[in-house]
Amino acid sequence: MLSNLKPQAPDKILMLIEEFKADTRQGKIDLGVGVYKDPQGVTPVMRAVKAAEQRIWESQTTKAYTGLAGEADYRNAMAQMVLKDVPTDRLASLATVGGTGAIRQALELARLANPDFTVYVSDPTWPNHLSIMKFMGVPFVEYRYFDNDTRGVDFAAMKEDIAKAKQGDIVLLHGCCHNPTGANLTLAQWEEVAEILEKSGAVPLIDLAYQGFGDGLEEDAAATRLIAKRLPEVLIAASCSKNFGIYRERTGILFALAENSAARDLSQGSMAYLNRQNYSFPPDHGARIVSTILTDEALRADWAAELEEVRNSMLGLRAQLASELRDLSGSDRFDFIAEHRGMFSRLGATPEQVAKLKSEAAIYMVGDSRLNIAGLNKDTVPVLARAIIDAGI
Ligand code: PMP
Repeated sequence: MLSNLKPQAPDKILMLIEEFKADTRQGKIDLGVGVYKDPQGVTPVMRAVKAAEQRIWESQTTKAYTGLAGEADYRNAMAQMVLKDVPTDRLASLATVGGTGAIRQALELARLANPDFTVYVSDPTWPNHLSIMKFMGVPFVEYRYFDNDTRGVDFAAMKEDIAKAKQGDIVLLHGCCHNPTGANLTLAQWEEVAEILEKSGAVPLIDLAYQGFGDGLEEDAAATRLIAKRLPEVLIAASCSKNFGIYRERTGILFALAENSAARDLSQGSMAYLNRQNYSFPPDHGARIVSTILTDEALRADWAAELEEVRNSMLGLRAQLASELRDLSGSDRFDFIAEHRGMFSRLGATPEQVAKLKSEAAIYMVGDSRLNIAGLNKDTVPVLARAIIDAGI
């Protein structure tokens, strides 16, 4: 049986990690994998996470199963964090295995509700979106998003494309900090997106994986809140991997905002059913860390402060890189790096130029020229800026 299996194409980013490890050159720079790194190159455990873990260790008396949808404390705290004004009578929620699990369960839920649906995704998007849909056999079409000339959003093209989504279709949107481009919509543009979806009846699925990494915890949730206020049905897949730095704990959540409380109850039942069919109970440890932090004033304040340090360090690196490139190129054509938000920016370089950065300067980034800003520090920014100019980008 097992010898009938076909080899699977390896994940490109994971391959890049292996290649980077094997590179023996001094001063090599990894801008590939999407984890936050401090100036020393370490992905730290946040102070509040350590403190919460200690509290859990001291107070937890059982490891018996939780609920199929996860603990209510976690789901309520996350609903507060993401939506602020929570329409409790319309909101179903499900603890999931990371943000990835939330996306998978959102697509499963959409399919249960309407087997004949198409997903609209940005071109480009996080590659896992596409691979999950291919694996599930869910049809998808790409909507135009990134303008390679301005390195911003081609909003006119995006509007034209998402307007083609019909009732029962899903439009997948990045709530903030678009991965892989770093280019985002303004709130006024989000209003227009809401209007288009209102007209068509297509349902937005908002992927919120970087709340707190862009303009701040509240600011990064503003688009999601705006959509949730205006539309009758919204799916939200949120991840705690980045903003709590608990990547390996696999902590995510799916929200389904339904038209009314009866549809909410139906959604809640179907969501718990989906967890049951997939892995039964969702992981608890990461969720408990999150709810411990969010429901304790002091822990929450300390976590929010550390998250601000993380966010500001990335903004500082963006400003420094844009400024170095302005000096070296004698132009403002790299200013988009300071405008972009989140951990990533797409440089808009060709695959040959990306290969040149690797072979000549030992700088590793994803083949589509996505670079992880958090992989830099004050000393490596000038090295990257020089290499970008030398590679003719
Ligand atoms: N969506 C996007 C756009 C992401 O970049 C990520 C993390 N790389 C996720 C979702 C989900 O992350 P996780 O499953 O690790 O929580």
